[in-house]
Amino acid sequence: MAEHKIMIGIETHVQLNTKSKMFCSDRSEPGDAEPNSNTCPVCLGFPGSKPRINRKAVEYGILIGIALNCRINSNVFFSRKAYFYPDLSKNFQITQYEIPIAEEGYVQMGDDRIGITRVHVEEDPARLIYQNGDITSAESVLIDYNRAGVPLAEIVTEPDFKSPKQVRNFLERLSSVLEYLGVYDPAREMSLRVDANISMDGGERVEIKNITGFESVEKALNYEIVRQSGMRRMAATVQRETRHFNAELKTTSALRKKEYEEDYGYIFDPDLPMVTLSEAHVSSIKAKMPELPEQRAERLSKEYGMDISRACVIVYNGKPMADFFETSVKLYNNPDGISNWIVNYLMKSLNWRGERISNSKVRPNTFVELVEMVDKNEITERYAKELVKSYVDTGTSPRKLAEGEKVVLTEKDIVKIVSDIIVNNKKASDELKAGKKEAMQFLIGEALKQTKRQANPNEIREILTKLIGKST
Ligand SMILES: [Zn+2]
Repeated sequence: MAEHKIMIGIETHVQLNTKSKMFCSDRSEPGDAEPNSNTCPVCLGFPGSKPRINRKAVEYGILIGIALNCRINSNVFFSRKAYFYPDLSKNFQITQYEIPIAEEGYVQMGDDRIGITRVHVEEDPARLIYQNGDITSAESVLIDYNRAGVPLAEIVTEPDFKSPKQVRNFLERLSSVLEYLGVYDPAREMSLRVDANISMDGGERVEIKNITGFESVEKALNYEIVRQSGMRRMAATVQRETRHFNAELKTTSALRKKEYEEDYGYIFDPDLPMVTLSEAHVSSIKAKMPELPEQRAERLSKEYGMDISRACVIVYNGKPMADFFETSVKLYNNPDGISNWIVNYLMKSLNWRGERISNSKVRPNTFVELVEMVDKNEITERYAKELVKSYVDTGTSPRKLAEGEKVVLTEKDIVKIVSDIIVNNKKASDELKAGKKEAMQFLIGEALKQTKRQANPNEIREILTKLIGKST
């Protein structure tokens, strides 16, 4: 495929984990409440109802802005974005348009710097539940207003991404930063949704709406690259439009011609006051800033003498994983071994099961048993790799698992195995007695097989020599 100039920018919507909604006192996380039960006149948009600003959500917006190296604006206000859609009972969404909380930040990704255009807060529309199909094919749609009014932060990037893979890396990093800030819960369903804009070779911009899952974002963009380059080859013009990503088919399909921001007719919301973010207020929030992933990776690397790239893999897996690592090291002081087993084996097993460390059965006190058994040569690395899988499956102590399978062999066990081999391989034993080197190799091989490589060849050689010597 010929080289294409690809420009990708994304808008990320993150549900903030405040206690109440953006403009009313309904819970922002209704759990398994009946659909449409966690609502009030404000979030249902009844005439005469008056919204009030959730200060915590604004504070979260400021925290996110600071963490993404943005400038924080001193006077911000809310506007109404007018459009008609069933998920929006007021026929407008309260958002920030003219002056967002934060602007002009960046995220450094290796040598590349991804510009952050803006960060603002707004309300989530209701949730549409499509019956027998998706947005393009459903026969009917149900609406759940429990989600209407949940606080969202919208984080908009510049079109600085060079590849879908880079977008995915960015999202993993962003999600990790938000988790460290404590403003979002990655375990909450659909808590992070992405709109991605992509244009190729100076052509029109196509927007893919509402993608959940970092892998899906990457796939949707890859599909668009193939689709758009195909169109160019056939000399067709790429239209400015909004598309939908079908996660099952891994394809995108046209939803509507893309409207321009001006089309929404934003107006200042007269029900809400201007919010003044004084320097003192912003500094007091800055002072509360927790350790962020980038800083933690650097600290782990220094404190535990770890390669920075390994530290990054642990840290950007999410806060619980980095906590898991540090707790494990406190219990068993071998940071190198522990990080190696986490990065190379534990994470793979968790991924394979689609689990995060926080909702898995893995615990630091049992995990370190595994590393310790390998360190003390009680089990081989090869066996330990197998053991990780059943450990992640069951959460049973690796020591108990190994003992249950009787694979922690004592020296006595090994001597017994070797003497049985001598008896059962009479020809080879006789040859060994006669001084044939090949026979020694053969018997060692047999012993390695039967001890599941828990004994090493030298140890077996010693035992063999001793036993053969005795029996002659
Ligand atoms: Zn409400």
